[in-house]
Amino acid sequence: MTITYTEAYRTAFVEYLRRGTPIRLSLKQAGITDQYVWRTRRDERVRRSHRMNDGRVFSWSDPPATGHPSDDYNCRCEAVPFVAGETEFGFHEFTTSLASSNHRWTDRDFLRHYYDGGGRAVTLLEIGHLREIAEQYAYGDGTEGAFRRLADQIADAARASGVGALSYDFGAPYDFGDVAYSHGDGVVRGIFVGRVDDRGAMLRITGETTFEFSDIFEDPLDVGIEAGGTPYPITGNWTARFSAEVTKDAGRSEYGVVGGR
Ligand SMILES: [Zn+2]
Repeated sequence: MTITYTEAYRTAFVEYLRRGTPIRLSLKQAGITDQYVWRTRRDERVRRSHRMNDGRVFSWSDPPATGHPSDDYNCRCEAVPFVAGETEFGFHEFTTSLASSNHRWTDRDFLRHYYDGGGRAVTLLEIGHLREIAEQYAYGDGTEGAFRRLADQIADAARASGVGALSYDFGAPYDFGDVAYSHGDGVVRGIFVGRVDDRGAMLRITGETTFEFSDIFEDPLDVGIEAGGTPYPITGNWTARFSAEVTKDAGRSEYGVVGGR
């Protein structure tokens, strides 16, 4: 795909030198867009920073912070030329600021609160874990992270419900032990609320997804806990905007669990 663009660009550049035809115009006339959709291999080997780019539209003239697909050593990602109304895309983008200036709790802090906190609930934001939990869930869970799986599920829901308002809810426990041992399993529930519009062979899907994390800290190490502690809830929430265009025909789509891949 890169080569197609490179060759077209070379031809356009020659046109520019010979006749002064703007490069962008030549590319457009040749049916080559400056834009592409980043597509990963969707397995556990994909870099997390590249998972964050999956399904997004980028421009060859304006690379993302990661560089273009295959710029990095051993990158197997693909740049699919983007043609509006024909090329599928789909991605979530955080709309909550995940930054926190609070001290990041260590396992020791979790334990201290168990004995001294009197059961008072804490939020991920106040314990400095919001970004790690939200990003682990979005890009690190399972083989590729929840954002890509959700894109499949929302696409299926859109095909099932058709044009108009769409809401889709979900929820499951996940292993957050990589963020902090004390998290272990937490539950993330959420709901997508948006709409589906007709775009010929495609469906356009736009909306916002709200995520809610919940966990109870109790008996964290299973052994060696002295009596006297009080279990306490850990909660957190964040939002992300979802934007996609997927084919109506699930069998020809990169997005969907039903019928597709
Ligand atoms: Zn890659």
